[in-house]
Amino acid sequence: MIRFENVTYRYGDGEGGISNVNLRVEKGELLAVIGPSGSGKSTLLKLLAGFMEPQSGSIWIEGKDVSGVAARHRDLGIVFQSYALFPHMTVLENVAYPLRLRGVDRAERFERASKALGEVGLSSATDRLPATLSGGQQQRVALARALVYQPKALLLDEPLSALDASLRTEMRDLITHVQRTAQIATIHVTHDQEEALSMADRIAVVHRGEILQVASPKDLYDKPFNATVAAFVGKANLWIGDVMSSTCVRTEFGDIACDASDWGIGDRVNVMVRPEAIMPLTADQNPEQAPNYFNGTLVQDRFLGAVRRYDLSVAGCVITGETGYRGSLSRISIPFDSVRLLPLQDD
Ligand code: ADP
Ligand code: MG
Repeated sequence: MIRFENVTYRYGDGEGGISNVNLRVEKGELLAVIGPSGSGKSTLLKLLAGFMEPQSGSIWIEGKDVSGVAARHRDLGIVFQSYALFPHMTVLENVAYPLRLRGVDRAERFERASKALGEVGLSSATDRLPATLSGGQQQRVALARALVYQPKALLLDEPLSALDASLRTEMRDLITHVQRTAQIATIHVTHDQEEALSMADRIAVVHRGEILQVASPKDLYDKPFNATVAAFVGKANLWIGDVMSSTCVRTEFGDIACDASDWGIGDRVNVMVRPEAIMPLTADQNPEQAPNYFNGTLVQDRFLGAVRRYDLSVAGCVITGETGYRGSLSRISIPFDSVRLLPLQDD
């Protein structure tokens, strides 16, 4: 449906941009693109939208190479963080505008715009001016306007980042609902990893202009490609370790039993464990029977409502855990299967 083939675009000074990007989005799929600020996410969308052309590589939409095709002929629905509505037009006129550009007659365009507004839950606001709407409502208008002409794909560049937390959750649900109903290929750029995990079929992680990994939310979380991905998606303990055998890795605070069969003895690795995988031992549990048992000193303890996040100092290293357990904390166990070994990185 949408394909990036070896796409490179570097800005004038050579610092920013994207390099050798390969990416596919299928029909009906919602692909989230996440990465730190400045990593190249918007550049990716601008190239797809046709606001600028790749310096090398090609972009394909529905089997057609779109090199040189002007933005307005690519038939893409675009929503940015700033709503960019026309202030002097009513909500209905705003949504009908793309149809006017395409020469659809007046009666039909108002009918289709009304329908699109209904789909985003804004039927009652058709005659209002954008300035009289809340931020969330304006963003719904922008979404309706992007969808009204049944675009080939929907491009969303951090559309929710200006909204407050509860509205963001509501808009997430609305976007996924509308996107699923219309079965439209969607690229959703966000720096909010929870947003990406909750909405996407697949997630692409961008770092310094390169795509590090593309995977389903679960695979990305459970099997990150390296420590950068692990630290960017969710929270992660990352310790340096040396592989001692196919079932043991040695860290600064002790040996950890795990599956190291993909590694060679003597390999230096990043040892990753998610905080919620770490099991606190209650007073009546026997440490002899707990895998990877460690005893430490509680140095941080934050109550976050549903969970408690704590730091345990073990032989000078910090182990961060998350638990619903409210008793005293000093003894923990790290389940064998929760340990993942990742390659060491240069930076
Ligand atoms: P993101 O959307 O992930 O925050 P961008 O794609 O906007 O990142 O930018 C990627 C990099 O390119 C950044 O380092 C940014 O400073 C640089 N950049 C973006 N736009 C321009 C531009 N018009 N001229 C020069 N550098 C730019
Ligand atoms: Mg951006």
